[in-house]
Order: sequence, then C-alpha cells, then structure tokens
Amino acid sequence: MAKRDYYEVLGVDRNAAEADLKKAYRRMAMKHHPDRNPDQADAEESFKEIKEAYEVLSDSRKRQAYDQFGHAGVDPSAGAGGFSGGAGFGDVFDSVFGDIFGGGRGGGSRAYRGADLRYDLEMSLEDAVAGTEIKIRVPTLISCTTCSGKGSRSGRPPSTCGTCGGAGQVRMQQGFFSVQQTCPKCRGSGSLISDPCASCSGSGKARGHKTISVKVPAGVDNGDRIRLSGEGEPGQSGGPPGDLYVNVVVKTHPIFSRDGSDLRCEVPIDFVVAALGGELEVPTLEGRVMLKIPAETQTGKMFRLRSKGVRSVRGGAVGDLICSVVVETPVNLVKEQKELLKEFSKSLSGNGDKHSPRASSWLDGVKKFFEEMKFS
Ligand SMILES: [Zn+2]
Ligand SMILES: [Zn+2]
Repeated sequence: MAKRDYYEVLGVDRNAAEADLKKAYRRMAMKHHPDRNPDQADAEESFKEIKEAYEVLSDSRKRQAYDQFGHAGVDPSAGAGGFSGGAGFGDVFDSVFGDIFGGGRGGGSRAYRGADLRYDLEMSLEDAVAGTEIKIRVPTLISCTTCSGKGSRSGRPPSTCGTCGGAGQVRMQQGFFSVQQTCPKCRGSGSLISDPCASCSGSGKARGHKTISVKVPAGVDNGDRIRLSGEGEPGQSGGPPGDLYVNVVVKTHPIFSRDGSDLRCEVPIDFVVAALGGELEVPTLEGRVMLKIPAETQTGKMFRLRSKGVRSVRGGAVGDLICSVVVETPVNLVKEQKELLKEFSKSLSGNGDKHSPRASSWLDGVKKFFEEMKFS
C-alpha cells in the first residue's frame, strides 16, 4: 500500500512548528482513536498512520530525513534484523496523550496500551514460498527477580495513596471549573510504595525476553507483515498489550529471484547448445525439469515454465518460472580447440549476414550513422 504524505496525514503544512504538529496530532488522534470509533473498521489503521506520521515529524532528525528523502528516508523496513520498535509508538502516544485517555480506564489510574513492536524476520525463499514456523525471541516485561514482583524492598504490599484515596485522580478548582487531574503524589497509580525496590523502582517488573512461535503462511514475500495481536509490549496499569508486527525479509537466493508470483532465473548455456539446440536440466523449487533449447537460441531469450512459480499468500494462480538464457563464451581453451574455432571461423567468412544477423544489422546501423554525420 502506498504511504500517504506524513504532513497530509496530520493536516499541517511542511514548515509547521513543533507545537502545531503536536496540536494537529492531538486533534487527529482524538478523532480517529479506535476506542472512539468502534464501528469504523479502518479506524485502527488510520490511527496507526497518524501515530507514525507524528512519530517521524516530531523527531527533528527523522523529520529532516523525511523532508529530504520522503518515506525512503525513514522507512522502518530499511536495515534488516532485530528490533526497531522498542521505544515505539506507545511512548510517543503516552507522552502526548497520557492525560487525555488515561482517566476513564482501569479504575481511575492511568491505563496505557503497550507499545507495538516490529521484528524483521529473515527467511529463505523456500520457506517463504512453502510456509514455515519460526521461533523468535522478543522483549517482554517479566516479574522483577529482586523483589519477586512485589515492588517493595521489604516485601510489604503497597499502601493506598492518601492524596487521591486510591483513585489516581484528584479534582482541582480552577476559577469556575473543577478540573480532574492525575494525582501528583502517586502519579495516577492510586497506590504508594514506601520502600521501592532499587532494581525495578517499585514497578515489580523487569525487562526480559519470551520466545514465541511465528506461523509464516505459504507465499509471503519481502515486506509482508504478519500481525501477532497482543504480543507487543505489555500495557501499563491494566491496559492491553500492543501488537507485534513481524516483517518478512526474504534472503537473496543463489538461483531464483521473485517477481510477484513468478520466479526468475538465469540459465547459462554454451554456444554450441545455443547454436545446435539441445536439452538442459533446470532447477525449480520442486526439483529438476528438462528444458528444451531450440537451435539458434540467443542470449536474453526467455523460456516460461508454467506453474513452476509461487502462489501468493493473497491467493490467485500459481505463477511461472521464467528462465532467461545467457550464452556463455568458452574459456580455458587448449591449442587444438582454438585451432578448431579458427577453422570454424574461416568457414563462416564472407557469409556474415547469414550467420550473424544481429551483428550485420548493427554494422549497417554504424555505417549509416557515420554517413549521416558527414552531411551535417
Ligand atoms: Zn523489584
Ligand atoms: Zn494518589
């Protein structure tokens, strides 16, 4: 899918100041937040688009790269292997929206959806075509080992925050208005730990890893994404976890390259087979097949082997294998072979038009070119 311009997504012009970006982001994200648009099927996609646009434009370095090179300059799929989403959308989202969406969820304390993660999964062409299952290690939050997840040094359970009575929110009088605000004492959690654990600062959680199995459906191609719902970073204060997006990266194959549902390969043939014709064994993903080379085959000639390609993950017919012939010049010839070729060459002489139609027409073109030059 072609990406929309980030400025267009946020509805700002290209020299918008940072404050305007933030304002536009708040406005657009409020409007398209999936929680507010439960009936709108594409709300989540638009919301992600908005987050992504803001994530890039709010970072001066990324914004500069985007201004200069467009999406290619900040392409999240550039560079293979490992993670790039660790401090992902969730963090940007939290920093701007912490106060807006926090209130209503999780009994007064701030509940955040965990960040989405992206993982570049390298695989062979064979695995991408046939489908496979691959285990990957992704970061997750685990129980802090120092305090066994309790969050306090002594092991005492947290006490209810006295300032907000455990609600995580306080009401403040501002002029005529009563404004609800996140409790400054417990920062919205509703509880306080008097002796927080030094390792986890009282959260009871530590960064760890988990291994999950990714089912790769048959027919995926470079750049396809597999979404694993709920396998992203855990949410905070009862918020739902983010999603894990597995980005398919197909390794370069020594023989085949993929072109949609077709596969392509180069087939070198020696010039005797090219001239006289013959049969040749060529590889397909399912094994060898014989390819008939007709006499007088030239470099670049393509042979299509029906249904020896790939069935796309999106369905449709199986593609073809397209073999393109390259006529190879013989090397390491011994004296006798060179003599034979000289003999052979003599037998051709004076008959250039007949034996080398392409060279003849090329020579004619060159001749014409020089003649026209003389008159200009
Ligand atoms: Zn701890
Ligand atoms: Zn409080």
